[in-house]
Amino acid sequence: MNRIVFVNIDGACRDIFYSVVRKNKTNFSQVIKLPKRAINNVGISSSRKDTIAFHQVLNVLPVYTMPNQASLFTGLYPCNHGVLNNHMFDRLGKSGGADEPVYYNNLRAYNFYYGTIGSANRMLTEQTPTVHDYLYDKGMTSAIFYSHFSSQKNAGKVNKIMFNFMRDEFSKHSGSAIDWWVPSPMDALEFPSQGFNESHIFDKYINFDGEMMQDTLKYLEDMEDEEVPNLVTLYFGGNDHHCHGKGTKGEKGQAHYLLDYCDKFFGKFLEKWEKFIDQTIFIFLSDHGHIDVCNGNNTIEKDLIPEILKKKGYKCFNPKSYLSRVGKCDVAIAYSCGMVQIYVQKNANESNKGDWTELPSEDDLEKVKDTLTQGGKLNHTDFIFTRKLDGNSWNAGYTFDQLRPGAGADFVRLTERMDEICCHSSGDIILVLDPRETYRFGGEDLKSVHGYGIEQDSYVPLIFAGNNINLFKPKNDISNVRTVDITPTILYLLGIDVDKFDGKNLLEKKSG
Ligand SMILES: [Zn+2]
Ligand SMILES: [Zn+2]
Repeated sequence: MNRIVFVNIDGACRDIFYSVVRKNKTNFSQVIKLPKRAINNVGISSSRKDTIAFHQVLNVLPVYTMPNQASLFTGLYPCNHGVLNNHMFDRLGKSGGADEPVYYNNLRAYNFYYGTIGSANRMLTEQTPTVHDYLYDKGMTSAIFYSHFSSQKNAGKVNKIMFNFMRDEFSKHSGSAIDWWVPSPMDALEFPSQGFNESHIFDKYINFDGEMMQDTLKYLEDMEDEEVPNLVTLYFGGNDHHCHGKGTKGEKGQAHYLLDYCDKFFGKFLEKWEKFIDQTIFIFLSDHGHIDVCNGNNTIEKDLIPEILKKKGYKCFNPKSYLSRVGKCDVAIAYSCGMVQIYVQKNANESNKGDWTELPSEDDLEKVKDTLTQGGKLNHTDFIFTRKLDGNSWNAGYTFDQLRPGAGADFVRLTERMDEICCHSSGDIILVLDPRETYRFGGEDLKSVHGYGIEQDSYVPLIFAGNNINLFKPKNDISNVRTVDITPTILYLLGIDVDKFDGKNLLEKKSG
């Protein structure tokens, strides 16, 4: 029986991660033997017998954490799993009612990320199984450390540590089929939503990933041998936040964090996991990369779009105001740095406003689009995507206008990936800003960002390693490797046959 340990490092850039794991005498290097040989034309390098690495693994839009994490654990594109952003507009009011449909600040974000069962989990399309549910159905077990997405149906007790601010007492392994450890609100305090002023907290007090590993080690200490989970997921959230604050390059850049934090924590895990290492396949993966900010001043106030629209009589939902109620507004905006999703109510700014659950008309969308593009205020926008209204469907895809000459060259399959997010929870109008100059919404002083859809944030590392991976090789007909392929591949490695994903299994048994 294979065991799988899924090391999920938020924001790990492919090239930086690969250079770090090539270093000798690290904990990563105990299990990863990355081939030095050139990669083949579909980006697979597997010359070493106990490591398979992929080089062109493309994630999903928007290039933000929550939609991408949901794709990792469901094998589905955002239009099919329903999680469209970190801060999203919940048009149908599924997650918590119409009064709080967009989650912006820390506590709301915390609730969205984890909550009691995790509102983000509630945004998963109803009955969408996660990889953990497929295991559960086969009597297999999962232990989830700080990953956002677990089972809506079958999760065991959510770790109670989240209510214990002082963390003086650890919850015991509950023995259920899906054990889900979530961070405490204390941990979430140095997991700021968009502020990223973590320099003090990070170095001096606590470390998000350190807390995650502490919980994991305690779990392993309490675990009986017959309780060893089939799938363990370790979510390192700190890397992403470190990079936002320090950038990816330089002495304090990403390589430093991966080596001095993630690798050390992974080493602690290996010590406790030693007994099971022969039966373990390790998977290393991230949700997105990072783009270093080239001009710190290229920020665009989040008030700009509401101000432009207000002049034409629109009323935008204001995420900064607790008093702003979406019922009184006809436009809502959800930012993800380089990409902005704009939701338009039917008959917006007219007296006979429709309901948020209704499709806006072509006229509604044209008017908002014209308002935004006139006057040159948003002239750092590369593309504007507009919902197609064919056949009264929420899933008809997007048309787009390219606003900057040559813009398309920077992006990786942008239009194709845009259609993968198209559903009732995606924006009716979507702006994509200029990534070359890292124009972005929000005034925060960030050193690196993501959320555009270009190579640096869209290609992620993917490594399978460990003794048992010797039995497998990349499938011959593999091309176009995507992060939605992970769930099908995990299931294949565990001998579970399911075929209802947007992704595909990447591996097959070696013959003979
Ligand atoms: Zn992330
Ligand atoms: Zn981030």
